[in-house]
Amino acid sequence: MLNAEQIARAMAAAGFDAWGVVPAAELSDAKRRFTLWWEEGNGKGLDYLGRNVDKRFDASLLFPGAKSVIVGAVSYKNRLSMGYEGDFDCRIASYAHSTDYHTSLREMLREVATELAIADPQRAKICVDSVPLAEKSLARLAGIGWIGRNSLVINPRLGSFMVLGEIVTTEECDTYSSPMEEDGCVGCGRCLLRCPTGAILTNRTLNATLCVSNKTVEQGPAEWGETHGWFFGCEECQSCCPHNATAPLHTNPRFDALYDPRHYDSNFWAKVSRSEAESLFATTPLVRKFKKW
Ligand code: SF4
Ligand code: SF4
Repeated sequence: MLNAEQIARAMAAAGFDAWGVVPAAELSDAKRRFTLWWEEGNGKGLDYLGRNVDKRFDASLLFPGAKSVIVGAVSYKNRLSMGYEGDFDCRIASYAHSTDYHTSLREMLREVATELAIADPQRAKICVDSVPLAEKSLARLAGIGWIGRNSLVINPRLGSFMVLGEIVTTEECDTYSSPMEEDGCVGCGRCLLRCPTGAILTNRTLNATLCVSNKTVEQGPAEWGETHGWFFGCEECQSCCPHNATAPLHTNPRFDALYDPRHYDSNFWAKVSRSEAESLFATTPLVRKFKKW
C-alpha cells in the first residue's frame, strides 16, 4: 500500500512541480470522446494514435495487475516560451531547447519508484509519452490541471508549459487525488483566435492534421507547407494564454536550455548536413526531426 504523503515527498525530491495519484481504471468518458475525435478524422496520418486504444484508456490493460497511476508534471517554461522578439522565422518550441524530456522524466520517475520501493518491473511501469496512455485525462483526474481550450493541461500556477510522466503500479494508494474542477478558460478564447491554421476545435481538442506543431515535428521538410515561422513545434496557443503569462519560469535544472535557437536561422538550416545537425542537437528532442531528412 502506497502512502500519499510519501509519494509527495518522493515526487518533490525528484524535481516534479505537481503530481497526483489516481486508480488504474477505464477512463470511459475520455475513451468515448477520443473515439469520436478519431472517427471524425482529426488524427489522420497519426496512425500510432489509433492503435492500442483500449490500453490507452485503461492502465490496468496496459500493465496487468495495475491498481494505481502516479502522475507527475514538470514545468519547462523558459525565456522564449512566451515568444521571440522580431520576426525570427525558425522558432523552436521551448520544450525542445533542453535535454529530451523522455530521458529526464524517465530518470526522475525511476528515482521516485526506487524511493517508494516499487522499482521492480513486476510492480511498476514507467510511462513517458512513447507508451500509449491517456496522460492528459489522467493529469486532470489527478488534480494537476484542467484541459484547456487549446487541448493542453493547464495548472493554475504553472500554466501549460509542462511535460507529463506516469508510474503505473500494482500497489494501491491510501488516498487518491481529486480531479481538477476549476476551469480557467471560461470567458477566454484567445488561443482559438491566435492559432494560425484554425486547428483548435470548439470541444477542447485539435484537428491534428492542421496543427503546425504536428507538421513540423512529424514530417520531413519535403512535406511541409506554410509553417508560420516555426521550425520545430508551435507554441502560439500557449504564448497567448493568460495562465502562462503569470506562470513562473522552470526551476528544475534538467530543463535548462542547452542552446539558443536564435543562433539557428534559415541560412543555417539550409546549409547544415543531417549528420552535423544530429551531432549538434543529439540530446534534445530536436534530433527526432533529422531522422526524417
Ligand atoms: S488562451 Fe484562454 S481559452 Fe485558451 S487555453 Fe488559455 S485560458 Fe483557455
Ligand atoms: S500548436 Fe500552433 S497550430 Fe497547433 S493548435 Fe496550437 S497554435 Fe494551432
